[in-house]
Amino acid sequence: MNRRRLVGAIAAALTLGLVPRGRANARPRLRPPMALLPGPFEQACIGCYRCAEVCPTTAIRFPTAFSLDAALPYVEPRDAACVLCMKCTQVCPTGALVPLQAEPVAVQQAVRMGTPVLTRSRCLPWSGAGVCRLCFEVCPYPNSAVELVGGRLGPLFHPEACVGCGLCEEACPDGAHAIQILPIKVAG
Ligand code: SF4
Ligand code: SF4
Ligand code: SF4
Repeated sequence: MNRRRLVGAIAAALTLGLVPRGRANARPRLRPPMALLPGPFEQACIGCYRCAEVCPTTAIRFPTAFSLDAALPYVEPRDAACVLCMKCTQVCPTGALVPLQAEPVAVQQAVRMGTPVLTRSRCLPWSGAGVCRLCFEVCPYPNSAVELVGGRLGPLFHPEACVGCGLCEEACPDGAHAIQILPIKVAG
């Protein structure tokens, strides 16, 4: 199919709703733990699906066949967070995910899937709408990646100590969705 026909086919598919619209306003993708930096990761990953096959929480997803996104693994923590088992890193055949043992100290030192961004106006204790400490309760590094502070015991996140597993985002109540894990911007 030449370029003109390909563009026409994609436009037709968009019109029919077969292809998700552009992701310009969508949230950027989070990659699985120990992914190489953007650029080297896309070059190294062959889209073999092995990481997704071993993931115990089905946290690792691939774009659908109709998506315009590259066939690369991503994590959507609101649906299913990473429990830091590190199995995906151990089966990756190309080194796109660097192998790591599931040892808590080593994981906290090496893994940075994303960074936590809290919207205080949506957070139950910070906004005064209620009592909640779910993010703190599920965090694998409580009092390090997140602590509870102030009279309302609101969460205070520490990005430098956070692995970006997304367990806090998965746990945050639907009415709030106050915490999001966003990809870390790489300079240059
Ligand atoms: S570390 Fe385990 S839970 Fe996390 S994405 Fe990899 S396989 Fe899934
Ligand atoms: S603060 Fe959230 S993303 Fe960070 S380690 Fe704790 S649960 Fe995981
Ligand atoms: S789980 Fe959500 S609403 Fe609850 S304290 Fe954490 S960020 Fe706030």
